[in-house]
Amino acid sequence: MHINAYIPDKQNWNRKLLHIYWGLVLIQIPVEFFYFLKVETQEHITANHILIPTLIMVLIMAGMEAAYRLSQQTLDYFILIGGSFLTFTIIYFNYDVKMAPLYVLIPILVSIFYFQRAKFLISVVLSLLSLTILFNLSDLLAAIPILGLATLIAFGIMKRGVEILANLHATTELKQELMIKNIIMDKLSKTDALTDLYNHITFHEYLEKLIEQSESGHLCIHLAVLDIDNFKKVNDTYGHRAGDAVLTSVSGILKKSVGLNDFAARYGGEEFAVIFTEKSTDGIYEILERIRWHVSQTKYDELSGQAVTISIGLCEYSKGMGKEQFFGGADQSLYTAKKTGKNKTVIHTFPLLKTN
Ligand code: GH3
Ligand code: MG
Ligand code: MG
Repeated sequence: MHINAYIPDKQNWNRKLLHIYWGLVLIQIPVEFFYFLKVETQEHITANHILIPTLIMVLIMAGMEAAYRLSQQTLDYFILIGGSFLTFTIIYFNYDVKMAPLYVLIPILVSIFYFQRAKFLISVVLSLLSLTILFNLSDLLAAIPILGLATLIAFGIMKRGVEILANLHATTELKQELMIKNIIMDKLSKTDALTDLYNHITFHEYLEKLIEQSESGHLCIHLAVLDIDNFKKVNDTYGHRAGDAVLTSVSGILKKSVGLNDFAARYGGEEFAVIFTEKSTDGIYEILERIRWHVSQTKYDELSGQAVTISIGLCEYSKGMGKEQFFGGADQSLYTAKKTGKNKTVIHTFPLLKTN
């Protein structure tokens, strides 16, 4: 039974326990004063029942306070042992008070705060020792049942606490596992399994949102559509697996080349789409040309050492264009790139307005 790991603010609790003991010392002074006021002379009250015990109790508290400041590691034991000395002192100086022996229960109750069997047992042993020193055998035997019962109850509280914490721990772990599973599921539903790029559906979702932003504010967006040239031939000549290796590699180049604010997706088959945000057309053209060059320089063992090429169409969004026209612009440029020899990037230009 040990749950120290669950008590990160133990120092805080030790401070509270010290406050409790200080409270005990402070309460003790008027209590003794009023009790002995009736039975002894003024002189005796001051010396035997107020001054000496108060001095001893303050010294014990000073020892605990010093431990609090010097060593947090041994502080628990100082509080346990100091607490036992404190209650011993109270019982000793209030020997005539019938209920005084009940004070031995205080260090036992305090030890529950640590939820550690060893510290709990130390308190029980110290309390028994106090009673053995202070009382004769018959009184001691009379105190044993109440001490035993209190010990059992305290032990039960500790065990119950450990059980509750273990349950809490298990629930937290389960919650964390579920959260991780949710994140994985969310990612899986958004990405393409082969390339790890965003999938077709997610691409359209983002595209719509970004167009909305662009329409309502000043967000500048571009769309590039990229298509592997003669990919059917690659599949037909070297097999589907070789084709997959090419797709994975081209996706890797894409991921590495686009910025954090850009959005690369596998649009379908051997076609990719990238939404660029807040970049100039010239800047994006440069990025795309670098991607195109990189792809053309990547040779595959699966293709007997050959590389593949890609064609790219790029379109800038202008207000009022809408999704269809935006995508159509990029696609049209891709078509032009294919038609005019492939392995090139074509920037979409709007058709010239007819003038009379
Ligand atoms: P173009 O240069 O005009 O783009 O010609 P292409 O051969 O690349 O285009 P086409 O549309 O004729 O062929 C696309 C091929 O891509 C056909 C299909 O088998 C292949 N493909 C689509 N998805 C996958 C995939 O996940 N893995 C592999 N290995 N091949 C795929
Ligand atoms: Mg193709
Ligand atoms: Mg295609």
